[in-house]
Amino acid sequence: TDRVLMHSEKLSVIGELAAGIVHEIRNPLTIVKGFLELLDGEVSERGEEYVKVMLTEVKRIESIANELLYFSKPHEHQLHPHNLVPILENVNRLLENTASKKQVSLNLDANHKEIVINCDQDQIKQVFINIIKNAIEATPANGRVNITLTANSGAAVSISDTGCGLSKEQLNKLGTSFMTTKENGTGLGLMVSYNIIKNHKGEINVDSVEGEGTTFVIELPKEEN
Ligand code: ADP
Ligand code: MG
Repeated sequence: TDRVLMHSEKLSVIGELAAGIVHEIRNPLTIVKGFLELLDGEVSERGEEYVKVMLTEVKRIESIANELLYFSKPHEHQLHPHNLVPILENVNRLLENTASKKQVSLNLDANHKEIVINCDQDQIKQVFINIIKNAIEATPANGRVNITLTANSGAAVSISDTGCGLSKEQLNKLGTSFMTTKENGTGLGLMVSYNIIKNHKGEINVDSVEGEGTTFVIELPKEEN
């Protein structure tokens, strides 16, 4: 199997820049979207077609902006103790429907009641959504996505899928800006996720066999008592 450890040092500058730009872009975007929604139904049939296209594209810009927003600035970071188990249960519930629509079975195996980590809960949730969503997207019908939570000196969440896997070349590019193999992908999810994990003093490891599947392991330090 091919394995890489993700590095994201080079991304933090891009991250800060992106967060700033996104803040500036979101307000005008919301206004444009609002007026387009008002226009929808007020115009001729042909006009309505145009409005629909514009709305679709504006929503796409909006989702890219939202993904970028999760680029975290380390110094603005507020880490608090949170139990990782209910966070994973919550993400699992959120993505159950996405998985079952694709006939992919999504299983969460948390052998613990409580594993406390210091984190920004929303950001950590975003990381798991990104990575589990990717796993579901990579997996064909009748495949499986297994999420396992274990704890020793730290917490380790493993997300393994029976999906398409990654070539060595793809694996090396993983987490760099805009690397996507999807028609409607942004290639931002992993880049943002690596940045967040780095800011939590964690680590992401990826193992993949092309054509067989991929395993992401996210390690996070436990809260020190
Ligand atoms: P996006 O999902 O928008 O393409 P991501 O940053 O989330 O962007 O993922 C980047 C790319 O990494 C994907 O397009 C895909 O090629 C690859 N990838 C990520 N996770 C997996 C996985 N579990 N199995 C196979 N390929 C993956
Ligand atoms: Mg993605």
